[in-house]
Amino acid sequence: MSDFVIELPQPATLPVRGTNSLFPVRRVYCIGRNYAAHAVEMGHDPDKEPPFFFQKNPNNLDTSGTFPYPPHSSDVHHEAELAVALKSGGKNIAVENALDHVFGYGVSLDMTRRDLQGQAKKMGRPWEIGKAFENSAPITPLVPASESGHPENGIIKLTINGEVRQEGDLNQMIWKIPEMISYLSDYFELAAGDVILTGTPAGVGPVERGDKMEVTVDGFPSLEVTVV
Ligand code: MN
Repeated sequence: MSDFVIELPQPATLPVRGTNSLFPVRRVYCIGRNYAAHAVEMGHDPDKEPPFFFQKNPNNLDTSGTFPYPPHSSDVHHEAELAVALKSGGKNIAVENALDHVFGYGVSLDMTRRDLQGQAKKMGRPWEIGKAFENSAPITPLVPASESGHPENGIIKLTINGEVRQEGDLNQMIWKIPEMISYLSDYFELAAGDVILTGTPAGVGPVERGDKMEVTVDGFPSLEVTVV
């Protein structure tokens, strides 16, 4: 066995609810503008756009329950999202077979440095600086699909300090979960360990230090995160 020239980085993992087992994370894909009302609030026409994706880093996922306000931004937004975790993958996966690849689901946040993302958009630059920063993807332990089933509808909601800020229904996704998996697999080779954040309903907005965010999705444990 060969050794490593530097210390092996810690693998990114997510706990699995009700077990002592961990889900190893390989890649994190995020879909943009997947709820019509959110696309409209961001100034886009939801009818004309094919899906598009960006990525976060596996170790941006964070189950600690705290979100450190990141540097170089004064406009950090919450985006409440359902996360899908894959137990297998492949290329050119058919929509009909896509859910066979799902291990389970988590409730997550796609935290965004909106000011930096806005500058990047304006300058035609990539979005990583706005999206893929440390602790930018708070998430719950995963719930196996064998327990939750595959959700097609249900309220997804975010409150801050008890006040509702985002609310939608999973059935409002423009691109459904099987379609997202199939579409991604036409462009990338998906594999076990991949996680997909499925987009956010309308109502995104800024957070402040001290805020208590709670994301609820019908049928799943809620995600509680304090901004510090
Ligand atoms: Mn998002």
